[in-house]
Formats: sequence, C-alpha cells, structure tokens
Amino acid sequence: MRYLVIGGGVAGTTVAENLHIFDQHADVTLISATETVKKVTNLEKTGEVINTFDVTDSTPRGQYYHFICGVVTGCDLKQQTVVLADGRSVSYDKMCIATGAHPKVLYPNNAHVVGVRDTESVQDLQNRLKHCKHITVVGNGGIASELVFAAKLCHVSWVIKDQTISSVFVDSVASKFLLDSLQSKSGSNNDNDESSSVSKRQIFSTKVTDNKSCVMGSALGPDWYKGYSLDGPSSSKQLEIEYGCEIVSIDTDSNDFNLNIKLTNSKTLQSDVLVSATGVIPNSELFKDKLEVSELDHGIIVNKRMQTNVPSVFAAGDICSIPWRECENWKQMRLWTQAMQQGFYTARSMAASEDDLIEPDMSFELFTHSTKLFGFKVILLGRFQEWEGCECYFRITEGVEFVKLVLTNGRIQGALLIGETDLEEVMENLILNQMDISQLGESILDPNIDIEDYFD
Ligand SMILES: Cc1cc2nc3c(=O)[nH]c(=O)nc-3n(C[C@H](O)[C@H](O)[C@H](O)COP(=O)(O)OP(=O)(O)OC[C@H]3O[C@@H](n4cnc5c(N)ncnc54)[C@H](O)[C@@H]3O)c2cc1C
Repeated sequence: MRYLVIGGGVAGTTVAENLHIFDQHADVTLISATETVKKVTNLEKTGEVINTFDVTDSTPRGQYYHFICGVVTGCDLKQQTVVLADGRSVSYDKMCIATGAHPKVLYPNNAHVVGVRDTESVQDLQNRLKHCKHITVVGNGGIASELVFAAKLCHVSWVIKDQTISSVFVDSVASKFLLDSLQSKSGSNNDNDESSSVSKRQIFSTKVTDNKSCVMGSALGPDWYKGYSLDGPSSSKQLEIEYGCEIVSIDTDSNDFNLNIKLTNSKTLQSDVLVSATGVIPNSELFKDKLEVSELDHGIIVNKRMQTNVPSVFAAGDICSIPWRECENWKQMRLWTQAMQQGFYTARSMAASEDDLIEPDMSFELFTHSTKLFGFKVILLGRFQEWEGCECYFRITEGVEFVKLVLTNGRIQGALLIGETDLEEVMENLILNQMDISQLGESILDPNIDIEDYFD
C-alpha cells in the first residue's frame, strides 16, 4: 500500500511515523514545504488521556518514510496523484492531508501588520520588536495571551472584544486571577523569569522551498516564545487592555509611529506594529473544489474514520473539521495535542480496510489541554466552561492556584486547573468514570482531604 502524507507538522509526521505500526509493509511518503519536520519528543502520559510532550524541529531521517521537500500545488483525486510546484508528481493508494492552517490576519496587506505561525514569523516579530516602542496585539486566545506576557520593554496595547482576558480558555473569575498575576509581572525585566529563559528545544530555521508560494512552515506550539527575545527598546513594560472593542480601521501615521489604529471605543492607538492573533484558517484552498469543506471554519470535513468524502483521502490536524462528537465532554480545538492524537488515530484508520471496525480511541472521549498562561501551568479538561444548569465549585489561592470544577447531577463534567494543583489525574478519572460525588459536595476541593486516597 502506497501511503502519501502532505504536511510535516505534528499531525502529518505522527501519521507518517505510525503507519508502519498498523501496516508492516507500508510504503510511506511524506511531502512537506519545509526542510525540517515537527517531531513529538518526551511524551509523558500524566493520565488516561492527558499527556505532555515537546515538539522539536528535526531533519527527516527516512526511518519510517521517504521524504520529499516540496510544495503541493495540485491534485487529481481520481487518478490518485498530486503535483508539486517543481513539476514532479507523486501517486498514492491512500493519502492524508495534514497541511495545517494559517493565521487569520486582519489587514494582511499592511506591512506593519503581522501574524504568528511558524519559526520564520516569530523571528520576523523579534526583529521588529527591537525597534518598537508601542505594539498592539489583537485577539484573545492562547497566542495573543502568550505574546502579551512575553513582550518586554515596550508599551503593549491589547485589544480584546470580550470583557475578560484569555476568554477562549478561561472564565471571568480565572481571568481575574491571571490578570492580577500578569499585572504584578508586567514591567518585569528580570532575565531569570519564565518568559525570558532560553529554550532547551532545538530550533532550526525553516526554509520554504518555493518562495513564490505563500505556504508557511509548521505551526509553533507551547513555549513558542522561548529562545526569542521579544524585547522592545524602552526601559520598562507598560500594558494597557482595551476591553470590549474591535479595530475599526488602520492607517499609516505620518508622525512618530507606523500606524494609527482606530477602535470601536473611539480611541486611536499609535503603534509601530499590529500583531493579529485572531484565530486560524485551515489551508484547504487547494482541495476546496474537490473535497467537502466546512462552510463554518473552512476545514476539510472528516467522518469518524478521519476520512473525507473521497474514501482514499483522509485529513488530520488543523486542516480538518470534525462535525461528530464521540462524547459530550470532547470538542475539536486546533491544538498540538489534538494534532498528535488525530495523527495517531488516522494512521490506524488508513491502515485498516473499509470492512474493519474502527472506533475513535480514548482521546476522543475527553477534551484535554495542557498549556501555560502568564507563567502558570493550565490544564483544561472536558467541558471546562460553565453553561446554564451546571454547578461550579471553586478553590482559589491568589497568585498560587485556581481550581474550578463544573458539575451536573453531582458528576464532574469539566475542570479548569491553574497552577501546580496536582489534581489533573484524579479529575480526569472522575470525568471519565462519571462517578457521583454528591456525598462529598464542595469538600472535594478541601485541601485537607486526600481525594486520591478517598477514591482509591
Ligand atoms: C504561535 C503558536 C502558539 C501555539 N501554542 C499552542 C499551545 O500552547 N498549545 C497547543 O496545543 N497548540 C498551540 N498552537 C497550535 C498548534 O501549534 C497547532 O494546532 C498544531 O501545530 C497543528 O499541527 P498540524 O500538523 O495540523 O499543522 P502545521 O503545524 O501547520 O503543519 C502543516 C504542515 O503542512 C505544510 N504544508 C502546508 N501546505 C502545504 C503544501 N501545499 N505542500 C506541502 N506542504 C504543505 C506546512 O509547511 C507544515 O509543515 C500554537 C500555534 C501557534 C502558531
């Protein structure tokens, strides 16, 4: 069986490296636009589903697959071939598309507006920031939050359309907890602090083979700002948050700054650079007339086998759109962990025959995300955002930890854990088992009760 994988990010390399586990005779080819590919290392399972791992750039070594560095510019799904920018064509029996996504950049044609996605874009940002007295960041997800934290020695304006920070991941109470710590750390110019320490991870520059194409390298991931200096030229950091507003227009400033940024709250910010971190758009352009693509998020729609509407073609990672749910406490988010989990499951599914019964594995039963926000370890489990009719228990120690459990009918459906709470494994079990904890009630969060012992 000739398997073809397009994309050298976490999803694509996980598919390519694992196909041989399920098909010993697999003949695998991986095509990617950059000379290096992403590799998952130091994988540590901290629970049934939760795991942490590093992602490094590595040179493809051909142990499990043949590697072609090139940009795919066309495909014929009937003939089962793809065409590369340099004219080469590659045929396949089964193909997995793992071409990732690109940042949704507001005002993409303005030279002073940037998005962050791959190593090159963060290097570009680092060079710009050296001369920036004032940067504006728009967006309220993980990337915007991390950038606002990592940028030093400059004036940072953070434009968010919500009333609270980091709303993609945290609620208003947790947001206040993080904001207080952010404000106490703002202006910190300490080389020993978390955000300025040098990454131990190996960083290669990723060179795109075809400069004319706008294909980017693989997405960065957790700790992406480490190893870079995101320092401006000022002597301290100042942070201002513009809540509940959006950008109306930008134009070039004829005075000291590059941009005048007009906001819906009638303010105008003068800024050297605007970093647009308002989400991503799957790189589905090439396939949109050939495969079923979601009107909502432009991802390639896959079924429970990660198969597109053309049976020999699969998709995994940021490129795909998953309309099904194995379990209420799982949802798709375009994250590293999911790119890896989907990559592994897609390899299994590709190697199976159409008649084999393939069921999504445990990782589709519970949403888990482990990240860092403003220097804190953050674990998100299940349905961590409250909804009407749910009950929430909190345990908060200012500046140290924040624990929120979301329950229905005495059963935990989700958890938000900030800081070194050491609760992830037990909470994961309680969500997966749906054990009734009504008897314990809020005392489940009593630090004097060893709940692990209790449930053992
Ligand atoms: C700054 C930043 C911070 C992030 N932080 C986190 C975080 O803290 N936690 C987390 O879980 N996730 C984080 N993410 C998201 C995470 O990095 C992505 O969800 C994940 O890496 C997606 O992997 P992927 O393999 O699907 O896509 P990608 O990594 O985008 O890989 C796509 C690959 O396809 C190649 N490609 C594209 N088009 C073509 C073509 N036509 N021909 C050949 N090759 C092509 C690209 O060059 C690339 O190698 C972050 C993302 C960014 C940008």
